[in-house]
Amino acid sequence: AVLARIRQVDEDIRAYVTVTEEEALAASQAVDQRRKDGEKLPPLAGIPLGLKDNICTRGVRTTCSSRMLENFIPPYSATIVEKLNNCGAVVTGKLNMDEFAMGSSTEFSAFFPTHNPWDLECVPGGSSGGPAAAVAAGETIFALGSDTGGSARQPASFCGIVGMKPTYGLVSRSGVVPFASSLDQVGTLTKDVRDCALVLNVIAGHDPRDTATVSVDIPDYTTYLTGNIKGKRIGVPKELSGDGLDPKVAEVFKKALEKLEELGAIVDECSFPHAASAVPAYHIIAPAEASSNLARFDGVRYGYRAVPEEGAEYDLEEMYMKTRGEGFGPEVKRRIMMGTYVLSSGCYEKYYLKALKVRTLIRNEYQRLFQEYDLLVTPTSPDLPFRLGEEVDDPLKLYHSDSYTIPVNMAGLPAISLPCGFAKGLPVGMQFTAPVFADGEILQVAYAFE
Ligand code: GLN
Repeated sequence: AVLARIRQVDEDIRAYVTVTEEEALAASQAVDQRRKDGEKLPPLAGIPLGLKDNICTRGVRTTCSSRMLENFIPPYSATIVEKLNNCGAVVTGKLNMDEFAMGSSTEFSAFFPTHNPWDLECVPGGSSGGPAAAVAAGETIFALGSDTGGSARQPASFCGIVGMKPTYGLVSRSGVVPFASSLDQVGTLTKDVRDCALVLNVIAGHDPRDTATVSVDIPDYTTYLTGNIKGKRIGVPKELSGDGLDPKVAEVFKKALEKLEELGAIVDECSFPHAASAVPAYHIIAPAEASSNLARFDGVRYGYRAVPEEGAEYDLEEMYMKTRGEGFGPEVKRRIMMGTYVLSSGCYEKYYLKALKVRTLIRNEYQRLFQEYDLLVTPTSPDLPFRLGEEVDDPLKLYHSDSYTIPVNMAGLPAISLPCGFAKGLPVGMQFTAPVFADGEILQVAYAFE
């Protein structure tokens, strides 16, 4: 049914870079056979799964929506893909994204933009716009993305689905193409909170191939889905739910807070004074790490290599320059240049070290707030889904779209975005944030709200 749905709507939505139709059919028939044979099947047996195209799949093209990796076929699969395969999930294909996960609208894909299923003239958010649009349109049942500054939550919000960024270190990133390693986390995109818990049950846990993963006991996350949140203390940081907020989003958010109170939560306004520093600090730290991570794309080891005109020859340096000049798109180049600059001698202390200090302040701020509150709640994004082409030439405006999600990554916290209403016919999302490894509590509150 999902494959038929892809054939029916993907021409308009354009969520998929690659559909793995044959493999999906074979895998799903194998599950049917096992069911007929009376085998006890694993938890996600036969459930269709879409993957953001920066998650490596053995034998299947993994492009990061970049010319640089347009024809790259990885020799191994990401740990999370192996885990989901072992649980019987069936991969339907690879989903569109902003190139190397840099962007908030999926318009920086080197191939084509993806459209929002609720209004095809609007962006689906980004950088996991393909995964979010595919789940929202029924082109797959759940998807995995990545979230460095909001890339699972913001598109989930724009497409009216549930997007979660688990605690930094809870889920392995081995085989997920890195952007900014101290911020990157795998994100889930699901139709509802229960699905999110079921997926987290499978993908969470220590992996020796990602040394940032932590050995903690993984609970059964579905046990948190009790529906009871009486007495939960929920803080609303005014700096993350006021400045620059679309008034239509503000209206919907206000109603959502009332609903939380009706459910028995204690909702209180609080203050997060360093909130405004998060986006500028992020746009120093993330590009700095990206400039280092993306140095591997040099035209020598794998991926694209520029070819000189007939009769001409490149020396090594020319080959590097042409390869990277032709292989990367404008936003990726902007980040690499910015990152190289802030790491250069003279700038390192002034920008990079300073940004790290700001990051510590943000972390401390959260710690202080979590002594008083169990969770924090904000809108997921200050904006409603905007029109395709409207912001693509204005990077600063685009960066603004992540101002409520970025602080969470700076502190490594878990957060979820879930639908909380509509404005102008478009979905609005709200975001819950909790202390590290309180992923279960987040699901508990989100489930009760949903
Ligand atoms: N939109 C943010 C950026 O452009 C976050 C991206 C992400 O989380 N991968 O960097």
